[in-house]
Amino acid sequence: MRYREPVFRPPSEANSYLLPVTDGCSHNECTYCAMYITKKFSVRPLDDVLQDIEQAAHLMPETRRVFLLDGDAMTLSAAKLVPILEALRRSFPELQRVSSYANAISVNNKSHEDLVRLRELGLTLGYIGLESGDEIVNDRIVKGATIDEQVEAVQRAQAAGIKMSVMVLLGMGGRARSREHAIATGEVLSRMDPRYVSCLCVTPVPGTPLFDQVEDGSFEMVSPEETLEELRLLVEHLEVSGAVFRSNHASNYLPLGGRLPVDKAKLLAAIAAAQAGDIPLKPESLRGL
Ligand code: SF4
Repeated sequence: MRYREPVFRPPSEANSYLLPVTDGCSHNECTYCAMYITKKFSVRPLDDVLQDIEQAAHLMPETRRVFLLDGDAMTLSAAKLVPILEALRRSFPELQRVSSYANAISVNNKSHEDLVRLRELGLTLGYIGLESGDEIVNDRIVKGATIDEQVEAVQRAQAAGIKMSVMVLLGMGGRARSREHAIATGEVLSRMDPRYVSCLCVTPVPGTPLFDQVEDGSFEMVSPEETLEELRLLVEHLEVSGAVFRSNHASNYLPLGGRLPVDKAKLLAAIAAAQAGDIPLKPESLRGL
């Protein structure tokens, strides 16, 4: 197996075979993201990818889940993804799902027929980082796609049968746009209507523009209490038809999990209890990236 470090994957892909089909991120400009700043984006040669699959099939033939690396495997055209997905199906008889990070432009560049073909070949889950539903925040963090384009991407992928998991970042609007960020993010998630919603907390990482903005005072971080209020506003404005909701990433102050819409009242009650001091927030020392 040939990996170029660093390698990132969503927490829910902890047991997946990680298959590099690209290196780095084709966008690589989001102001808060340090994941691929040391990697120049490139597409791996198909022969190398197919050799890796063959080797993995010998080492772990029972593989059920595969995650395509790196930051945006969906940037590959359907014509390039199809032989990879076909090889995975041939090589792993017990394969249940293939997933990848997916940025909005990469999804929207594909036709409905292409997306359906990819889903039929096993690509059934995509992870997209919305981060904020607020258009002003979205511009400031240089997300590389408008809010409407991101909504369209999630809707189009799901119309093709690809389930979408959407990540958002509490605190991404800073103190200046905390309330607007939280409400707009809940509303945009409602328009997207994804199958999974994950709330993380923004964490400035050295080497990123966001870190510099915090250092020079142009971006003011929200407090743990303000983060909780953002979570409350977001959940209050969240109306989805059926999604798993999580705020249990290591960066969160209040780990929550539930199914929406049925658990919405329970989630709001837990947030209210935390705001009243009845549930302790995770200490800073136990938070992580
Ligand atoms: S957040 Fe995603 S799209 Fe933005 S730079 Fe990082 S990997 Fe690329």
